[in-house]
Amino acid sequence: MKFAAEFRDPQLVLRLATEVRNRAARLSARLGRRARIMEVCGTHTVSIHRHGLKHLVGPDIKLVSGPGCPICVTETKFIDQSVKMALDLGVVVATFGDMVNVPGSELSLADARARGASINVVVSPLEALRLAGQNPGRKVVFLAVGFETTAPAVAATILEAKREELGNLLILCGHKLVPPALLKLLGQPDVRIDGLILPGHVSTIIGTRGYQPLVDELGVCCAVAGFEPVDVLLAILMLLSQIEDHKPSVGNEYLRAVRPEGNPTALGLIDTVFEPVPAHWRGLGLVEASGLALREEFSRFDAACVLDLSVSEPRDDPNCRCADVLLGRADPPDCPLFAKVCTPQAPHGPCMVSSEGSCSAWFKYQEAAVADR
Ligand code: SF4
Repeated sequence: MKFAAEFRDPQLVLRLATEVRNRAARLSARLGRRARIMEVCGTHTVSIHRHGLKHLVGPDIKLVSGPGCPICVTETKFIDQSVKMALDLGVVVATFGDMVNVPGSELSLADARARGASINVVVSPLEALRLAGQNPGRKVVFLAVGFETTAPAVAATILEAKREELGNLLILCGHKLVPPALLKLLGQPDVRIDGLILPGHVSTIIGTRGYQPLVDELGVCCAVAGFEPVDVLLAILMLLSQIEDHKPSVGNEYLRAVRPEGNPTALGLIDTVFEPVPAHWRGLGLVEASGLALREEFSRFDAACVLDLSVSEPRDDPNCRCADVLLGRADPPDCPLFAKVCTPQAPHGPCMVSSEGSCSAWFKYQEAAVADR
């Protein structure tokens, strides 16, 4: 398979891993500690675990997961509002599958469905458009979560709904923007990260230029990476060079998909329909200009404008350490619930629900992951 098999070549993976180990050993001798490299994409998290990269890079690099899973960073209030819409307001909810089992303060969407609510799993916002067409007498609300990657498709759906003059399609907008959150996270004095593996999917939309403030304002070493083991190892080598040479930049390992300027068509769609607003991130709290809201002219599609979404103050399981896991302050096994009472079958937090969550990846590849901490 072109662009996949060659990036999984076991011989090449082993050669690159040996190079990473040697370079990391030299660097850690100079630093007097392990280098800390954070990935901020759930697909990278899964790839790192699936391919045993924590083990392959050796003991001189600590690979840390950051806020890269869009379901995981979505705040509990969003779940509570979704449950309220489905149960109390009687709307038809359309959502990506991973959202259904995320615990809310009282109920998840799966619980709401068990009580008779209409919860529909879709793989594209266009399916929500179809649902709205099929249910003209009911409001259909699409739960719009995700980073810059999913926002263009939602924007295109809103434009299509406007063109079709659909009056019953709404979105609950939880879209988030990656660079402002990384700026806040890495600007915190107790967060020590030497390099960032940047998300390939998001980067296809915003390009490498979108991360330049991380270099200019914080001097962070950055490398955009694809999702195969060779991609990740090449990105780590890029980061080790930047760290060794004290020359932070935004490297681009994912040249086959990411351009400096990103995707102007997708960016244009986002800009036409949405505007940046402050947004709450699980773990990070309120981050300026890190979320998207529908522009005024599209407010009739905005569930937050059309419906009463007031809910009580959200409550999380006090023992769940998802917030720390998302900030790289804790590994999933540091959570007292991990693999004991919190499992993919009975999740207590979003990081165990989402297929791209850190806790889910650690659980699935548990033995190797715990041995390589
Ligand atoms: Fe939250 Fe479960 Fe992960 Fe603990 S193991 S941090 S409860 S998701």
